[in-house]
Amino acid sequence: MTDPVHNPDAEHPVVIIGAGPAGLAAAYELTRHGRRPVVLEALPRVGGLARTEEYKGFAFDLGGHRFFTKVSEVEETWHEILGADLLHRPRLSRIYYRRRFFDYPLKPLNAFAGLGPLQSALIILSYLRWKIRPYPQEETFEEWVTNRFGRRLFLMFFKAYTEKVWGIPCSTLRAEWAAQRIKGLSLKTAVLSMFVKPKTRIKSLVTEFYYPRRGPGMMWNTVMRAVEQRGGSVRLNSPVLSIARTGSRIDHVLVASNGRIESIAGAQFISSMAVTDLVRKLTPPPPAEVLDAAGQLTYRDFLTVCLIVNRAHVFPDNWIYIHDPEVKVGRIQNFKNWSPEMVPDPTKTGLGLEYFCTEGDDLWTMADADLIELGKRELERVGLVRHGDVEDGCVVRVHKAYPVYDARYREHLDVIRKFVDRLDNLQTVGRNGLHRYNNQDHAMLTGMLAVRNITLNQRHDLWTVNTDQEYLEEIASTNGAERGNGRATPTQAAPSRDPDDRSPASGALLGGREAGAFSMFAGRRTRRR
Ligand SMILES: Cc1cc2nc3c(=O)[nH]c(=O)nc-3n(C[C@H](O)[C@H](O)[C@H](O)COP(=O)(O)OP(=O)(O)OC[C@H]3O[C@@H](n4cnc5c(N)ncnc54)[C@H](O)[C@@H]3O)c2cc1C
Repeated sequence: MTDPVHNPDAEHPVVIIGAGPAGLAAAYELTRHGRRPVVLEALPRVGGLARTEEYKGFAFDLGGHRFFTKVSEVEETWHEILGADLLHRPRLSRIYYRRRFFDYPLKPLNAFAGLGPLQSALIILSYLRWKIRPYPQEETFEEWVTNRFGRRLFLMFFKAYTEKVWGIPCSTLRAEWAAQRIKGLSLKTAVLSMFVKPKTRIKSLVTEFYYPRRGPGMMWNTVMRAVEQRGGSVRLNSPVLSIARTGSRIDHVLVASNGRIESIAGAQFISSMAVTDLVRKLTPPPPAEVLDAAGQLTYRDFLTVCLIVNRAHVFPDNWIYIHDPEVKVGRIQNFKNWSPEMVPDPTKTGLGLEYFCTEGDDLWTMADADLIELGKRELERVGLVRHGDVEDGCVVRVHKAYPVYDARYREHLDVIRKFVDRLDNLQTVGRNGLHRYNNQDHAMLTGMLAVRNITLNQRHDLWTVNTDQEYLEEIASTNGAERGNGRATPTQAAPSRDPDDRSPASGALLGGREAGAFSMFAGRRTRRR
């Protein structure tokens, strides 16, 4: 008689909440250790914020998702998963203002050439005027930027986009955001930097990136299949409704599935749902102060109007920033330029018009048909596509797209963290799971490390992932190609005091990968260390 095969999952099942990059990376890592996790996903598809939606054969990301990282094991995992399906793509992204394109980030010579001699002279005069008589106090974003760039440049390239992303006037945004993100930079230093040789040049992250042949969703669908082939399961349409605990131990979760409510027990739990939702779903509930802290953490939401255009070529960029204040659209993605396979018919183009909003506001609650009409009108208004050339469209609303770092978020997060860290067999991972402005790579890393805490008994502190790392993209910025931290969050209040916090950039001015917030000028980079 042979001994029964030991199956750790029978005794110690690992339950993962959420099939976004963090949850699926955790599941994939578990299968590498021979484990068979159960992944519970509320939506009908995997990928979370990095999913790819499809409409009539046209594929659309929720915002274009570039794959780039300096975490080598994450990059190796991407290649392992997709092989030749992970394309190496050139990047072009520009600013569109008054029917002209400007390099992104702005380069003074290019900007002056685009604006013409008169506007350029006015910009310089305006700059000098504000140098001679600056605002005596720099309390707001508007005052801070005007003092360094002049009013004209502020109005042209800072104001409209920043307000679209943040949803509040620059005159009420705190100056510290700008100071934190672009200290040391002004029109003068930007111009001077054009003549200074770069110290570091890492071209690949600035001008190229990886992208799956059929969008990021392809990555996550492939991971789902791999997990299932290795004996794990990924259950879609399975929202976790509550998380039952006895003291500091999680016993099981209640999941809605096919009209029934099912209890799923586990020995270990990894959650990538928003940490605010996590604490609200605990039964018995956590202390009132924890729930109160969860109530104070906020998010900025986002929607994409996906349009099918009956034209083979619209513009050559992967995406463009729309600065014209007369339109609400913030950024336009051209998915065909991310990968030709994003469109089923080469005579057509799939565009994603990005609108930053907050759940419940006018944009968020607008009917889909009206949003599609708005998108068509705005495309025509900025002169990119004629109204009649758009043949169809759909709308995707994205909850909790950006965790907001406001003046007191760190304080509230600390209260939640203290409580969650005391739960013996639950780890919270990912972007909203840690309320950290993580991109896919760091979201994945938190999932992978959570697994090692379980299977290898390691002691990784997931809250510190991505607090002491900077992106190559930032370093690359010293060459004048791109500044900023590669991430920008639409943040609505006073600045964080978190010294590690590089993510909440000030809308249009800084950052750059997601909200399309961008560093105004290519130029010298200042390290915040
Ligand atoms: C506009 C935009 C552009 C971006 N661009 C880039 C980019 O260029 N490059 C890049 O690397 N990253 C980019 N990102 C960031 C990237 O999308 C995130 O870092 C990544 O998706 C985070 O993964 P996650 O698994 O932590 O969270 P999520 O992607 O949010 O996944 C969480 C999952 O949990 C599920 N869930 C939530 N609650 C429950 C519940 N109760 N029960 C079951 N399931 C639940 C959700 O449905 C979701 O699928 C961008 C993000 C946005 C919004």
